[in-house]
Amino acid sequence: MNAYNPEQALLEARREFGEHGGVAPSISRSATFTVLHPGTMPEIFEGLKGPADGGCFLYSRHFNPTVDVLSRYLAAMEGTEAAICTASGMSAISCAILQICKAGDHIVASGCIYGGTHALLESLLPQMNITTTFVDITDMEAVKKAITPQTRIIFTETMGNPTLKIADLPVLSAEAHDKEIKLVVDNTFSPMIFTPHNMGADVVVYSLTKYINGASDLIGGAICADKSFILELMHLHTGRVMLLGPTMDPRVAFDIIQRLPHLPIRMREHSRRAKAMAQMLKEMGVKVIYPGLSDHPQHLLAEKLGNDTYGFGGIMAVDCGSREKAEALMEILQNEEKFGLIAVSLGYFDTLISCSGSSTSSEIDLEDQQKMGLSPGLLRIALGYTGSLDARMEQMKRAVKKVLSGS
Ligand SMILES: *Cc1c(COP(=O)(O)O)cnc(C)c1O
Repeated sequence: MNAYNPEQALLEARREFGEHGGVAPSISRSATFTVLHPGTMPEIFEGLKGPADGGCFLYSRHFNPTVDVLSRYLAAMEGTEAAICTASGMSAISCAILQICKAGDHIVASGCIYGGTHALLESLLPQMNITTTFVDITDMEAVKKAITPQTRIIFTETMGNPTLKIADLPVLSAEAHDKEIKLVVDNTFSPMIFTPHNMGADVVVYSLTKYINGASDLIGGAICADKSFILELMHLHTGRVMLLGPTMDPRVAFDIIQRLPHLPIRMREHSRRAKAMAQMLKEMGVKVIYPGLSDHPQHLLAEKLGNDTYGFGGIMAVDCGSREKAEALMEILQNEEKFGLIAVSLGYFDTLISCSGSSTSSEIDLEDQQKMGLSPGLLRIALGYTGSLDARMEQMKRAVKKVLSGS
């Protein structure tokens, strides 16, 4: 276990109070900002003065005071010098990649990633002559073999979607840095649990839509990195966030700021329940994948790399054998037992259940799904924390007995 305490790091970030001494920060909704003296305007445009060095805010696609507060808190939590928030997780991922890669460059990526990111790398970026080799990220020989002189990025999720492979970030970053490659890590499934920057990740990206916001009522993303990389993203002439323009709304930033303080409590509770549920399913003979179970291939690695007390996350995968059985189990869990909701996404207080192969990973073709260990009957269960755990376990037990017994 790691002694790093992201909760404490978050607490130590300079606290932003609202106008009139509000305990909550104010929402700065202005699109544009007044410059006190005409001479300051050119200096801001020349990049000589930002809000942090005696200049002021200019325009809210560039920097917004409320969005900046959230960025500052996220950087503190991740242990990076800086961060920038974006309109979605996908915009954070695409801007980070496009800032590093130009036409002719190459990416080595884990094959076990979010369907949207897979589509970006496999279908969209090749149209701009940026190509990707997908590998099993737990196979270091395969990673090394895939690297070419054109490789600029190794991309992985810390906990891969949906089969929950854990990437050995210290080993990957050593290999990447040896060859002057950047390690870009999507930590959406495991905030608080893992701190990728401490393990050598150069850029950490998030979909804030999931655990970090935790209420399934908005879409947001973030890029956490060194100050120089964040400034590159905001560069007036070449910044991908500045010019492609996926701006976060300050009202969205405010909502997330107000939910960040209870992220540690939520993560611990998601993890506690998921571990108990996974253990029960395993004892019932169900094929369940969960990094907190001792039979998970990277269980010891997850234990070694994880920050102390946050557990192994709230997501488990249950292999029902076939899509029909998976759908039958979902039907009972939602419509008879009221155990959870059939919906994509994760990190909500209610349990969200989806059949990955025909939903969030459907962008990945069947052959590649098989290669990444994604069977058509794989249910992704993103456990919530409403209701009593005992009652939830009983509901799951009854549903599983109806559908999976004898399989
Ligand atoms: C949801 C998700 C994304 C995409 O984020 P959006 O906020 O929906 O754009 C990227 N990576 C992972 C692992 C995700 O779960």
